[in-house]
Amino acid sequence: MHELSIAQSIVELAEEQARQQQASVIEEVEIEIGRLAGVEIQTLTFALESAVKYTMLEKARIVRHDIDGEGRCGDCGACFKTEALFSPCPQCGSYAVGLLRGKELRVKSIVINRYV
Ligand SMILES: [Zn+2]
Repeated sequence: MHELSIAQSIVELAEEQARQQQASVIEEVEIEIGRLAGVEIQTLTFALESAVKYTMLEKARIVRHDIDGEGRCGDCGACFKTEALFSPCPQCGSYAVGLLRGKELRVKSIVINRYV
């Protein structure tokens, strides 16, 4: 299951950041997920719940930011919201569209507690 391995890498990333700061408990982790990242958000949420067990994130609050897709047309330069990876420019119909946002999949920040 794709989402499970993503959940595990989120946990690993957060733990790595916590270790660098000599923390043993993570209180909160903020993650960013693009709507075009190809992730089933509901599934990922469930996967995260099981992935955090017995880790520093076990009690952490998970704050999720969903990022809308945003594209930029390579022909006319228009920026627009997009819900699909390969949708044409709404201004000129060109398919030379680059994605500006929407494929994010990352740990944005963590809140740690050093004294537990
Ligand atoms: Zn265009």
